[in-house]
Amino acid sequence: MGPFSATYAEARDKFLAAAKAAGASLSAYVHPERGPDGGELATDVAWIGPADAAGVLVLVSGTHGVEGHCGSGAQVDWLQRGEAARLGPGLAACLVHAINPYGFAWSRRVTHENVDLNRNFIDFGRAPPDNPEYDKLAAAVKPLDWSPESQAASRAVLLDYARANGFPALVQALSGGQYRHPDGIFYGGAGETWSRRTLTAIFRERLSAASDVGLIDYHTGLGPEGYAEQIVSAGPDTEEYRRAALWHGLAATSVSGGDSVSAKLAGDWLDAAPRLLAHARVTGIALEYGTIDTGKVVDALRADNWLHAHGDPTGPEATAIQAQTRAAFYVDTDLWRGMVLGQSLIATRQAVAGLTKAVA
Ligand SMILES: [Zn+2]
Repeated sequence: MGPFSATYAEARDKFLAAAKAAGASLSAYVHPERGPDGGELATDVAWIGPADAAGVLVLVSGTHGVEGHCGSGAQVDWLQRGEAARLGPGLAACLVHAINPYGFAWSRRVTHENVDLNRNFIDFGRAPPDNPEYDKLAAAVKPLDWSPESQAASRAVLLDYARANGFPALVQALSGGQYRHPDGIFYGGAGETWSRRTLTAIFRERLSAASDVGLIDYHTGLGPEGYAEQIVSAGPDTEEYRRAALWHGLAATSVSGGDSVSAKLAGDWLDAAPRLLAHARVTGIALEYGTIDTGKVVDALRADNWLHAHGDPTGPEATAIQAQTRAAFYVDTDLWRGMVLGQSLIATRQAVAGLTKAVA
C-alpha cells in the first residue's frame, strides 16, 4: 500500500505523519459529521515554505470523497519523497487533504448534503442550469428497491437511452450536473456546501499573498485504467488553458472544448478558482485517472445513491455497496498505484517548474 490507505482514518494519519516529517505547518477544518467508525472528519491543510510565497503549488485530494484514496496517496508520496526540497525561493506548497472528508470516509463521491462538490460552485443567486435529459432518467437512476430485477429494469432504461442517443449523450445527461433532484446523482445542491465554504476559506486565508497559483486536483473514475487525463476547465482559447498546456504539455484537454473524457458541466471548483483568486494568475488541472468500465462506475454510483436515499448506510447491505463504490474509484493493485504516483510526480514537477519561471 505504501503511501495509499484502505480507509479515510488511515489516510488522515499517514498524511499528518508525512506532513510533520516534512516540516509542514498543519491546520484542521473539522467537519460536522463523523465517520462510519465514529471518528472525527476533517480537511487537513499542510503548508511548506514561506507564508507570503509568491508562487504556491496547491494539491487537493478528495473533492469527490472516495476518489481521495488516489489523491491522498499521491500527496503522501509527494511528502515522503522529499519533493518539497524542489521548491525554490519564493515558492510554497499547500496540500489540502480530503476537502470532502465525509465522502472519503463513507466511500461516497458526494458530500453529506448528497452534493457533487464539482457541480456546487455555481452562483446560487441565479437560476441553476437546466438538465432536462436527466429529468427523463431520474426515476430509472434511483428505483425504490435495489433487487436484481429492479436494477436490471433501470439499467435497461439507461441502455435504451444510450442506444437512441449515443453513449456520450447518456454520460452527459447523467453526469453533466442537475439541480432538481436532491436525492439523485450528480446533484449540484441548493446552496454552498460545507466543502465549498471550507475550500473558499482556505483560498482566502492562505493564498491572498500569492501572485501565481498552480492547482492540481486529483480525480478517478473516467478513462482508460491507470491513465491520467490532464483536464483543464477553461476553454481552449483562454490564457488559462494556454498556460496549463505550456506547463503540463500537449496532453491537456478542455472540458468546455469538448475533447475531454469528462462531460461538459457547470460548478466545478477549478473553473471557479480564477474568480476566487482574482489577484493571482491561476494555472490548474485535474488529473483524472481511469479505473474500471464506465457502465460499472455508474452502477456503483446508483447503488450508493439508493443506499443513502432508501437503504441504511449502516445496515447489512452497506458493506458490499461501499466496497463496490471504492472499487469503482480506486483500483487496488500495485500497477495502478504506481501509475498514479508516476503521473502525479510528472504533473507536480511540471507545476513547480512553471511556478519557478513565473515568480523569477
Ligand atoms: Zn472526480
